[in-house]
Amino acid sequence: MSEPTIQDWSLHSWREKDALQQPTYPDEAALEEKLDHVAALPPLVTSWEVENLKAEIARAAQGDRFLLQGGECAESFGNCRADVITGRLKILMQMSLVLTYGLNTSIVRVGRFAGQYAKPRSSDTETHDGTTLPSYRGDIINGPEFSAEARRPDPERMVEAYSSSSLTLNLVRALAEGGFADLRHPEYWDLDFMDHSPLAEEYHALVDAIGDTIDFVEAVTEQELDSLESVTFYTSHEALLLPYEEALSRSVPHKDGIYNLGTHLPWVGKRTNQVDNAHVEYARGIENPVGLKVGPDMTPSRLKTLVRTLDPEDEPGKLTLISRLGADTIGDRLPALVEAVQATGQSVLWIADPMHGNTETTDDGTKTRHFDNILGELEQALDVHAAEGSHLGGVHFELTGRDVTECIGGARGLSEADLGRAYESRVDPRLNYEQSLEMAFSIVRKYRQ
Ligand code: PEP
Ligand code: MN
Repeated sequence: MSEPTIQDWSLHSWREKDALQQPTYPDEAALEEKLDHVAALPPLVTSWEVENLKAEIARAAQGDRFLLQGGECAESFGNCRADVITGRLKILMQMSLVLTYGLNTSIVRVGRFAGQYAKPRSSDTETHDGTTLPSYRGDIINGPEFSAEARRPDPERMVEAYSSSSLTLNLVRALAEGGFADLRHPEYWDLDFMDHSPLAEEYHALVDAIGDTIDFVEAVTEQELDSLESVTFYTSHEALLLPYEEALSRSVPHKDGIYNLGTHLPWVGKRTNQVDNAHVEYARGIENPVGLKVGPDMTPSRLKTLVRTLDPEDEPGKLTLISRLGADTIGDRLPALVEAVQATGQSVLWIADPMHGNTETTDDGTKTRHFDNILGELEQALDVHAAEGSHLGGVHFELTGRDVTECIGGARGLSEADLGRAYESRVDPRLNYEQSLEMAFSIVRKYRQ
């Protein structure tokens, strides 16, 4: 079989392939109308930003940056709210502060937000009390309520997803570029419950140390450090609902190729990463950097083919491999996968998603993850890359700035009995603010070993 070349690609070529995890819309004409509507709306991001992120990822692949990707498993329209969006930014800012200081490198901040509305599901349907309905596939497709009406795929939801993405991005950009992100005022990122956290002291000591350093540098240079006032947040989501991704993919004046202008970093999920299928076909031709989830079912030879397919020209920053293997499996699987990529001679960025291989269900049917397994997978990822002469250049978390109880463990010792108290996620369990901050400190500790 000859490998596909980029020349065979068009924005529509994915339509000739098997597209898994897609809804069946009841009304084809309504679908086309809504897609035309989305395709006519302004882009959410620009090609310059996309190229900047690609350059940052290229640097992270060389060990000169560290990528922090985090946010919701699934955004919802109802949570397109100031407190949710700012809470998420606050914890990401706190984590990136800890990582910058601890790893002594610049952090590339990538949110799982402003578009993370489509979810792959393990089953097409769900049955309760003898009634079977289509599964909830994320707010961009249908509603979570268990009724035939809510579960019917509605293409108008794509327009709402676009609007919610745009509203989210508007606040993110204003905060990131304005005074909120100023390193001299890290108190702006304090979350209400911060003072009661066992980590508060460690965090505030670090903030004070950074403040002293800034004062020192400004005193010595007799200059204010302007660059401290703003940061960049890039966006990412799983490029799952292909007609929507296509509608936001555009050509750009003075540049070659097609850019996905709905997000900076689209990724291909574990359930749709087959080499011959539609999602890889879509992702291999766009100009954006792309992410690829690598799960325990990945073989070294398939990964080689995927690397060559998604990044045929070995373009710096093009490909980010996101391993999500599970704490019990990573030690067995990751070494051969890293070696397979090394054998291609291509340069990719490896990051670790220690969330998705560690999901478990409690006896009462609640989905959770153990802090220790998450950290355990992360630490093993670091060790494996180091042993293989490779490099782990980033992390990927499902997290929230809210004080939820969805994952077990961490400094406060959340137990299974606590899960009922503040469990808000409709899909996967997220680290709460305190567990997220603890994770950042733990990463630093491990890197410094
Ligand atoms: C996700 O990132 O929410 C997800 C579904 O991940 P994966 O494709 O790795 O299972
Ligand atoms: Mn998830």
